[in-house]
Amino acid sequence: MHPPSVFLAHCEAYDPDVIESIVAGGLERLGLVPRGRVLVKPNVVISGPLFRHAYTRPEFVEGVIGAIKRRATEGVAELLVGERCGITIPTRYAFRQAGYFPMLRETGARAAFFEETRQVEIPLSHGSRLRDTIYVPQPIARADFFVNCPKFKAHPWTTVTFSMKNYIGIQDDRHRLVDHDYALSRKVADLQHVIQPQFIAIDAIVAGEGRMLTPLPRELNLIVMGNNQVAVDTVCCHIVGVDPREVDHIRLAHEDGFGPIDLERIAIGGDVSLDAARERAQGYEVGLVRVEKYFDGCRLSAYAGPAPGGDYCWGGCPGALEEAVEVLRRFDQSFDARMPRMHWVFGKYEGPLDIAYGEKVVFVGDCTEYEGQVGGQLVRVENLYKNRDLVEVESVAHENIYEKMIKVGKRLAQTRSEPTLRLEGCPVSVAELILVLATLAKSKNPYFDPREILGFNRSYLASQAAVALKRLGGEPYQIKGQAERGDAAPHSSASASIHS
Ligand code: SF4
Repeated sequence: MHPPSVFLAHCEAYDPDVIESIVAGGLERLGLVPRGRVLVKPNVVISGPLFRHAYTRPEFVEGVIGAIKRRATEGVAELLVGERCGITIPTRYAFRQAGYFPMLRETGARAAFFEETRQVEIPLSHGSRLRDTIYVPQPIARADFFVNCPKFKAHPWTTVTFSMKNYIGIQDDRHRLVDHDYALSRKVADLQHVIQPQFIAIDAIVAGEGRMLTPLPRELNLIVMGNNQVAVDTVCCHIVGVDPREVDHIRLAHEDGFGPIDLERIAIGGDVSLDAARERAQGYEVGLVRVEKYFDGCRLSAYAGPAPGGDYCWGGCPGALEEAVEVLRRFDQSFDARMPRMHWVFGKYEGPLDIAYGEKVVFVGDCTEYEGQVGGQLVRVENLYKNRDLVEVESVAHENIYEKMIKVGKRLAQTRSEPTLRLEGCPVSVAELILVLATLAKSKNPYFDPREILGFNRSYLASQAAVALKRLGGEPYQIKGQAERGDAAPHSSASASIHS
C-alpha cells in the first residue's frame, strides 16, 4: 500500500484530454486500478453562469472519468457521478446548469442524484461521534472505488473546503442539515467514518476564493491528487497559508486516525513544488469571518451571541446569512441599495441593538434568545433549541423549495407590520434566508428568475416524478438496519483501514 501521498500537477486550462492524462498519471503513480462500483463525487453545491467558480467543472470530471476508464483494465461494474447540491434545489437542475449532462453522455457515466436514491443507515462507533447512526445515499454505502473530486474553495463555515468538506454533499438535505450547526466540523469528521476515497482529484485550475457559493476566481492552474484526505487537505492548507490544525474538521479527522497532518509524514510529488504552489496562492482569501464583521458598513447589522455550544456558531445560521446575501448580490446588483436598514440577531445576545424607528429586527434560529426594547415594545425571544440528543435522524422533517416558499410567505405576511420577525430552525437554511431577504429587500428572487423558471421547474418535476415512481414501487425513502457496503467503506476502525 502506498504511503499518504499528494501530487501537485500543473494544468493550464480546462482541457479534458490534458486533465485525463494528468489524472491517469496520478492513478498510475499510486498504483490504483479502479474496479467494481466506481463513484465519482464532484462538488456541485450550486452552478450556472453566476456561480462559475463554485463547482467542479464538467471538463474536469470528464478528464477524471477518462482516466478512470483508462486505468480500469478489468472494467468496472458501475460508473456513477453522484451529488446532492445545496440550497434546496434539485440536483438535476444543478447538473443541468453545470453542463454535466453532455459530459455524462460523452463519458457513458450515469448520474446519481442523491436525494432521489434510497437512504441507508450506517452505524458509527468511534468514541467522539455525534450520533450512533448516520444516513447516506445507497450509492455511497455500496461504492467499491470512491473518487472524491471537489473544487478548491474558501468556506465561511470551515475556512476552506477541499477534500473532506466535500462530504457534506454525500447526504440528502434532511440528513445533511442535522448537526449542521456549531458541531459542523465534528459532523464532517464523522462522515469520514462512512466512506474513504481511494483517490482524490481536486479542481484547483481556477480555484474559488473568499466565499463558498459565490467565490471569486483565482487561477492556481493546479490539479491536486492523492490517496489520503487528511494528507491532501493538509497540503492544500499549506498552499493557502492556513495551519491545518486550525481547521477543525481536518484536525478531528487526523485525531480519529484518518491520516497525517504533518508535512513531514506526507510524500509530496508532482511537477509543481509546494513552494511554487504557495507562490501561486499568495494572498488567497479564505472564509471564516464573523457575521458582525462581514456586514460591517452595510445596511444590514448583525449581532451574534453564543450558541448552545458556548461559542459562536460557525457551522450554522450566521454563515448561512452571509452566503444568502452573496447569492442575492449576484442576482440583483441593486440588492444592497434596495435593502432597508435591518438587524439580524443570532444566539443568546445580551448587548444593545442599534435600531432606529421602523427598522426590522430578525431573530434567526432556534437558539436565539433576547430580551429588550424593540420599536417601543418589550420583546422577549425564547430559546427553542432542542438538544441534539433529542433529534431523531429517522424522523427529521424536510421541506422542498415550494413548501419553504409558502412557509416564508405566510410568516412574512403575518409579521409585515411588526417590528420583529422570528425564523425558526437549526439551522435556518440558506434557501429560506434567500427567500426572506429577497422579500424584505423587494429584490429579484433567484427562485423566480424568469430566465430559469422553466428549466428549474422541469428539473423539479422530473425529480419529484422519479421519487414518486419509487414510492409507488414500494421503495421507502430510507432503510434502517444493516446496509450493503462496498470496498470503499473504512474497515472496523479508521486506524486499521487508513494509512497513518
Ligand atoms: S439555531 Fe442556528 S445559530 Fe443556533 S445552534 Fe442552530 S444552527 Fe447554530
